[in-house]
Amino acid sequence: MRRLASVVLILCLVFPPILFAADETALVGYSPRSSQTEHEWEAKFRAIPDPANLRENMRRLSARPHHVGSAYDKDNAEWILARFKEFGLDAHIETFNVLFPTPKVRVLEMIEPTKFTAKLEEPALVVDPTSNQKSEQLPTYNAYSIDGDVTAPLVFVNYGLPEDYEKLDRLGISVKGAIVIAKYYHSWRGVKPKVAAEHGAIGCLIYSDPHDDGYTRDVVFPQGPMRNPDGVQRGSVMDFASASPGDPLTPGVGATPDAKRLSLQEAKSLTKIPVLPISYGDAQPLLAALKGPMAPDDWRGTLPIPYHVGPGPAKVHLKVEFNWDIKPVNDVIAKIPGGVVPDEWIIRGNHHDAWVNGAEDPVSGTSSLLEEARALGLLVKQGWKPRRTIIYAAWDGEEPMLLGSTEWVETHADELRQHAAVYINTDGNDRGLLEMGGSHTLEQFMNGVARDIEDPETKMSVWQRAKLSAIAAAKAEDRKELRERADLRIHALGSGTDFTGFLDHLGIAALDMAYGGEDEQGIYHSIYDDFYWYTHFSDSDFVYGRALAQTVGSVVMRLADAEVLPFDFVDFSDTMQKYTRDLKKLLADKQEEIRERNKELEEGVFKATFDPRRPTVAPPQEEVPPHLNFAPMENAAEALTRSAERYQKALSKNQTGLSEIQAETLRTLNEKLIASERTLTNEDGLPRRPWYKHLLYAPGIYSGYEVKTVPAVREGIEQKRYDEAEQEIARVGKAFEAEAALIDSAAQLLESGAK
Ligand SMILES: [Zn+2]
Repeated sequence: MRRLASVVLILCLVFPPILFAADETALVGYSPRSSQTEHEWEAKFRAIPDPANLRENMRRLSARPHHVGSAYDKDNAEWILARFKEFGLDAHIETFNVLFPTPKVRVLEMIEPTKFTAKLEEPALVVDPTSNQKSEQLPTYNAYSIDGDVTAPLVFVNYGLPEDYEKLDRLGISVKGAIVIAKYYHSWRGVKPKVAAEHGAIGCLIYSDPHDDGYTRDVVFPQGPMRNPDGVQRGSVMDFASASPGDPLTPGVGATPDAKRLSLQEAKSLTKIPVLPISYGDAQPLLAALKGPMAPDDWRGTLPIPYHVGPGPAKVHLKVEFNWDIKPVNDVIAKIPGGVVPDEWIIRGNHHDAWVNGAEDPVSGTSSLLEEARALGLLVKQGWKPRRTIIYAAWDGEEPMLLGSTEWVETHADELRQHAAVYINTDGNDRGLLEMGGSHTLEQFMNGVARDIEDPETKMSVWQRAKLSAIAAAKAEDRKELRERADLRIHALGSGTDFTGFLDHLGIAALDMAYGGEDEQGIYHSIYDDFYWYTHFSDSDFVYGRALAQTVGSVVMRLADAEVLPFDFVDFSDTMQKYTRDLKKLLADKQEEIRERNKELEEGVFKATFDPRRPTVAPPQEEVPPHLNFAPMENAAEALTRSAERYQKALSKNQTGLSEIQAETLRTLNEKLIASERTLTNEDGLPRRPWYKHLLYAPGIYSGYEVKTVPAVREGIEQKRYDEAEQEIARVGKAFEAEAALIDSAAQLLESGAK
């Protein structure tokens, strides 16, 4: 260590400590001079975040259970407020009143063929000091399940997805009038009761199979990181993807004291049937009592039982009742006013509420957010003044379904539409690779920041590490692109955390990032997601917490200080061309699949493979999907590419002169850039879900958090609404055309050299 330090010192003596010579390529959107200043401030910033502070932030914030409405949730909000103020930020708490159900009655028992009562309890563990805070812990439940008291035969439905019910149809099994038991994972949890209800089930259990996050993967907690037999995944089952996230009683408007509220009966986002999550300890006797056909190979978990589908003879009684209370959510909002264009906002958020102690989710992210705010506060004291206004937000009520961020977005929709340039989100953080998601107009920018952050383990840049790891994991046909494309592709955003309102509802460009992938975890949303678990099995020395603070803080500063907002449309239009090709392929694959199946039906394949002892039902003949006219999207995507190249050329040609462009021209240019994400939205929203206004990104109706890109076209094809898909292609084509025109007008501003 000392040897390395002396080498660094010698280098510093030989080369003056200027990070970038004037002729070095400047940051995108910066004149060479301001680029150099920016690099210097960012280097100062990145030296500040301290793992010891991150550890202390986590210890404090996760010391007690802090779900919505709890005493410690409020206490944490006030503590965060005090920290923001101590850092020199202008901060306040903004409170909304939202529907937040908590359990009153939870009963799950098997009444036939044998008797069994589920424990529904996560026990305290001696080595884990916060696991015994019983009086403050929320019981295990799924929030926004309706009340219900049902008794019925049980059916095992795998992950409970639409394709699982198609398989059940082939097995001749109906869930009508049954209670289903589904495994967690492979979709957002709320999809499971939704699909079950659509197929006529009257109750839904969701359990964590050891195959997915238990002993099959590693040793269970507290000896290891994985889910033990009593661990339960709490979580929201609000049907946010079909309706909207946030408070179910005030959809589309802020849940302020005088907001008009729906009655509970009118709320659209509650489940249709009662739901309860259980542990594999509680699930095993129920599953073991099932008979009927064996579950298909890929449905079977790793409990030591034969997995049968049912229905019955296991018959279960499920009763749940909730306190349907209105509770406060406390968002903590802090501001650093911009020095040049204070009415352009860069917003950065992470939630602070948890299901229980929540050290990983969300405190690992909240701790980094606080450390960023501290570092930015220090820079301000040293004379740094961001060009744009920076807003830091610690959201409350994310876990029940994005309550704090959605209500804030809905309340401030008008000013956000006018001022918000970019929203940057994080949530839980672990050890490993940088995962980057967001609007593709920010793909090039995000790659640029990642190139400047050092990976704590390998000491290469986190970008280089992500790229090489992607090559290692890639299929042969994808390696060439990974090696040759200038930027790594960032993933599109679905939902499941607080960017949703910004991106999907208002069309504010968004980014979401985290480190992860090196450690397995089986404590998600249980009482065991706590300081003990995190400091034993995740980023225990908080160096990835520091890397996250360095990454996100650099993103915030670089966006806040750029003369021209660093949106890029070349990567964006490349992605749009790709999406267009993907959609055409989706349709072609679907046509081929149905053609093949119809042929097999005619040939008698199903008759030939029929086993009378294990009877199955042949699928119905189906009409082959029609051809769709993709030309409106294809032509507009071409136009988009031409405009993108023109803008890029104009920007790089004018880079040295950026500092001389008149303030008024810069303002007009940045306004156009901010509008570029809004242009991809449509005021009418997506079919049947008008709250979702973005035409390119949305959570899937049947995938939940997972994104559906170009959602109305994609889901139109997947759900066999072909006429609708064709209309939506035209609507997306129009949005692309408008986007191309906007980019052209931005390029023209630069070309005309309005100095
Ligand atoms: Zn979270």
